[in-house]
Amino acid sequence: MEIPEITLYKLERYLENLVPLKPSLIDCCINSCIAFTGDFSNKNICSRCKEPRYISDKVSNIS
Ligand SMILES: [Zn+2]
Repeated sequence: MEIPEITLYKLERYLENLVPLKPSLIDCCINSCIAFTGDFSNKNICSRCKEPRYISDKVSNIS
C-alpha cells in the first residue's frame, strides 16, 4: 500500500487556496438542494424540497 501524496496538511492548504477568505458559514438545505445565499439568504425553507433551513444552536421560534 502506497503512501498517498496528499497529506492532510496539503489538503488544508489546498482548501485555503480555494477559499481565500475565512470559511464562511453558509447554510445549506438539509438535502443539499440549495445554499441559502444571495436570493435565498432570507429564506427559511428550501425552495425545492420545502425542508426547513438547517437550524444551528439556536432554537427557532417556529410555532
Ligand atoms: Zn432542499
